[in-house]
Amino acid sequence: MNEMKMKTKSLCPQCLKVIDAEVYESDGKILIKKRCEEHGEFDDTYWSDAELYHKFARWQYEGKAGITLTKTDKGCPFDCGLCPEHKSSTMLAIIDLTNRCNQHCPTCFANAAVAGYLYEPTMKQLEEMMKLLRSEVPPCPAVQFAGGEPTIREGFVDIVKMAHKIGFAHVQVATNGIALANSEQFCRDLVEAGLHTVYLQFDGVTDEPYKVLRGIPALKTKLKAIENCRKGGLRSVMLVPTLMKGVNDHQIGDMVKFAAKNLDVVRGVNAQPISFEGRVDESERKERRLTIPDFIKRLEEQTDGEIPRESFYPVPFVLPFSYFVEAWKGIPLLEFTVHPHCGAATYVFVENGKFIPITEFIDVEGLMEFLMEGAVEIKKSRIGRLKTMAKLILSGEKFIDREKAPDVFNENFTTFTDMLKEGNRDSLAKFHRKTIFIGVMHFQDAFNFDLERVKRCGIHYATPDGRIIPFCSYNAIHRPSVEKAFSTPLRKPHSE
Ligand code: SF4
Ligand code: SF4
Repeated sequence: MNEMKMKTKSLCPQCLKVIDAEVYESDGKILIKKRCEEHGEFDDTYWSDAELYHKFARWQYEGKAGITLTKTDKGCPFDCGLCPEHKSSTMLAIIDLTNRCNQHCPTCFANAAVAGYLYEPTMKQLEEMMKLLRSEVPPCPAVQFAGGEPTIREGFVDIVKMAHKIGFAHVQVATNGIALANSEQFCRDLVEAGLHTVYLQFDGVTDEPYKVLRGIPALKTKLKAIENCRKGGLRSVMLVPTLMKGVNDHQIGDMVKFAAKNLDVVRGVNAQPISFEGRVDESERKERRLTIPDFIKRLEEQTDGEIPRESFYPVPFVLPFSYFVEAWKGIPLLEFTVHPHCGAATYVFVENGKFIPITEFIDVEGLMEFLMEGAVEIKKSRIGRLKTMAKLILSGEKFIDREKAPDVFNENFTTFTDMLKEGNRDSLAKFHRKTIFIGVMHFQDAFNFDLERVKRCGIHYATPDGRIIPFCSYNAIHRPSVEKAFSTPLRKPHSE
């Protein structure tokens, strides 16, 4: 078989100009190489497992943005956004509430102390950003407050209330957990305000990774934060490790085991391999680079094969489910059309101390194909709609191997339609409560940047200038100019 070679566009890590790049296969890996006329050649690992790369490549879809706010002018990624070329709607919106932080991570270049200015959008601007996101078609369902450290933003609880009132189905916060660890009452206030999920920075189950990545031994704070969430009724914590090879990649299995032990409050682990900003030493970058397949391989090894690499699928894998519910209900539903090499995920049950991935007892590929065909059939006619539902009730069960399924699954989903329930949120919530979500998203940096990925990005920043900017484009290109345009000098108190 010929080894894959593909032309794409990337960025020069030094001048950030768009340059030609090649993504190619060599020695069982996928690599990226590019040349800037001025700054020379650059190469990096794109995906460390070619076989898995090809598997994931099967799920590439063309979607469209839920709103267009800018024109096609200078070309991607300078036209953000969202411009007419963008190929995904906002599945998760991020809003930075402040660039101040109560922690000083050696790996962070974005905080106020380093930047020298204060970036804090006003309440009015926040309201406008959120309303803009909700005006997308379909409306953006989820917003995550980030920073800096969003919980130290004055009026944080009111901002959560505002998001809830504006209509987001999921309101989340990405936090280092210090404020949660300091006050059980704060957790309670957040639940009352309408916060659904805490994305808790959680780099490992010992203090060592924190010392390297955060400059402090922070494990005690994380455990206290989780305990306070439990007591305060904040029952949806996602553990978010920043992964660096040689620092905490040996603890991936232990983090998933920790999640399993705390399933009453922890929903899962959503890992983020570190991206490299600024001038990093080439040998260090190559040594520390960890890709999605590395994460998957380590998890398999560290769980003695209980969560094998075959359990993972790319984000757009679930798209047929959206098509199906959309056809059935006749309303536009969010389509997960992000690039297949941006992220991977799976769901895992835990029974008698063992992990049972959903792929062990559900033929997920067959099921998705079936739903895709069902969606087409329903769209054709009313008869198609009735026929499909009858088929679903009759033959959907064939995708489940009840013998291999954990008891907790069989008890809660006694029929196939229980599991689907027309995309009903309650049945999805029930499913989420019984499983651990394991996800990994590899945010891009200028070294491995691929315009094909960013054009399909579904995680978008809302900015005070009325734009919606894909995450990896914002962090590689647009952040400094947006923040500077809406910042005040650091020492002056901010007025709204
Ligand atoms: S990333 Fe998307 S919105 Fe931004 S310029 Fe490219 S296609 Fe347009
Ligand atoms: S945030 Fe980056 S890695 Fe994630 S979907 Fe968007 S482009 Fe891909």
